[in-house]
Amino acid sequence: PKELLKVKDLKQYFPIKGGLLGRTINHVKAVDGITFDVYEGETVSIVGESGCGKSTTGRAILRLDEPTAGEVEFDGEDLLALSKKDMRKKRKDLQVIFQDPYASINPRQTVRQILEEALEIQNVVPKNERAKKIADLMEVVGLGAHQADRFPHEFSGGQRQRIGIARALSVDPKLIIADEAVSALDVSIQAQVINLMKQLQRDFALTYLFISHDLGVVRHISDRVIVMYLGKIVEIGDKTSIFDNPHHPYTKALLSAIPVPDPDAQSERVLLEGDVPSPINPPQGCRFHTRCPFATERCRVEAPELRNIDGMKEGHMGACHFMEEIKNGTHQVE
Ligand code: SF4
Ligand code: MG
Repeated sequence: PKELLKVKDLKQYFPIKGGLLGRTINHVKAVDGITFDVYEGETVSIVGESGCGKSTTGRAILRLDEPTAGEVEFDGEDLLALSKKDMRKKRKDLQVIFQDPYASINPRQTVRQILEEALEIQNVVPKNERAKKIADLMEVVGLGAHQADRFPHEFSGGQRQRIGIARALSVDPKLIIADEAVSALDVSIQAQVINLMKQLQRDFALTYLFISHDLGVVRHISDRVIVMYLGKIVEIGDKTSIFDNPHHPYTKALLSAIPVPDPDAQSERVLLEGDVPSPINPPQGCRFHTRCPFATERCRVEAPELRNIDGMKEGHMGACHFMEEIKNGTHQVE
């Protein structure tokens, strides 16, 4: 399959103003040089604790916030070179679903009006076909055409998320970025919405970039997983590699925090201490060194590059100096 999205060395620094003159005195390095591809038809998840830069990455790709530096190529086109106007047109192909669909829809509009508006802005179908398209969309997301004239507040959280999905789907996108799209829902409703998303992916040839802090959900939906820490990618690989054979201590720590049925898997538990440091002045060297039980002097001075892991599948990469040594038990912490 071909790459649909290519992100290269993406950076997002937010200025911090201060002093009497309100000058920029520092930056929050929310995303600090990340590179990854998303292939057509796959689901790539970005996981990490809050503040790791995963939402910022999604917003930068969509240019909801203009990225500070880097490249974003979508379907062969340089997104960052588009004028604001052309970017708005491009949003037809890149849609987003947020955690709270209610926040991004007008509560005084019926679902029909919400969908009408989306169809009109992107001019997806001729006016006389809109009613049919809306009825189809309502069926496709499992709400039923008869519900189109109700207001958002008349629906449950899970149903509202289906409205959000219908709206995203209405413009026939290629990529959907889902930012904590099911995080606010009850577990059983989460499963229903994820199953719907998977079904729609098959039916409409969709590609997903799925942003979530919830590893259980990520395990369910992903083909590949990107783990971020303090604005950097620390590990990337297919789902099996990440969940069954994690190599970066941070990935292991994240996985250690979720209960596993297999007690053998617990032997590699890494417990996280302390909080995520500030992204204003991230730690020198490896950003994880302040919390990593394997840190050495080298980690405090030298930032590890994202690289292929010896003996692992092609494309399973990590950013830690000692992944192989930690795995085979020869790593020495001085
Ligand atoms: Fe830990 Fe060092 Fe690896 Fe960073 S480079 S994750 S501090 S062992
Ligand atoms: Mg977020």
